Amino acid sequence: MPDTLSNSEAITVEQQKIAICACTRMFNDLKILDHSGHVSIRIPGTDRFMIQGVHASRAQLTPEELFTLTLDGEILDGPAGTKPVSEFHIHSEIYKARPEINSVLHAHPKVPILFTIAKGAELKIVVNHGYRWRNGVPVHPDTAHIDTPELGAAMVDSMGDCNAVLLRAHGIVLASEEVKSLLIDGIHFDRNAQACLEAHRLGEPIPMSEEELDIFEKRFSRPRHGVKLWHYYSTRAIENSVLPEEWRDAV
Ligand SMILES: [Zn+2]
Repeated sequence: MPDTLSNSEAITVEQQKIAICACTRMFNDLKILDHSGHVSIRIPGTDRFMIQGVHASRAQLTPEELFTLTLDGEILDGPAGTKPVSEFHIHSEIYKARPEINSVLHAHPKVPILFTIAKGAELKIVVNHGYRWRNGVPVHPDTAHIDTPELGAAMVDSMGDCNAVLLRAHGIVLASEEVKSLLIDGIHFDRNAQACLEAHRLGEPIPMSEEELDIFEKRFSRPRHGVKLWHYYSTRAIENSVLPEEWRDAV
């Protein structure tokens, strides 16, 4: 693998950097992510990924604040005087184990975490977009920060082939095939958790049946939905100055 990127690859990498920053700022605006939490992208076709620096603001993240790392954690590129987020091992260990995954979110949203700390609580799939997690949302029992490769690998073991894992008393991890899909996954995962919690006030939440999930999944275009939501949220974010106007063409 070459150490320097060709021009065409460099354009792609720049676009991917803006996508990480845009997705992070939009998640922050949506309160799915806040002062902590991070989005990464695997550089297409490589064993490298990009993720933000530890002190960079999620509300104002810029491409200059991103690091490029190997899956073993070697820093290939990034700003001086700082370092990548300590929990980058969440991302690198998923990319090692799951070649189909190209974008990862780790965040600490309030409602999904409740399902890891309330005795007997179960995060059921109660809305149609929850089909994405129909094969389960495991709870990883370790409450510590995942700041070593070993802790990351243990989390991946808990996750198995699922597309989400809850970290007990800590947060969530979502894994998607690309960043626009990660945006919709972040929104729908949080929405499903809120729906499940609020439904409890009215009665026992009724999970989506296998048949209902089959019907929804069969008729649903995930790429089209990803483009639609990305356009809606990024346009709104530019209008609200969450994203800079100069990113309009890139997002
Ligand atoms: Zn965390």
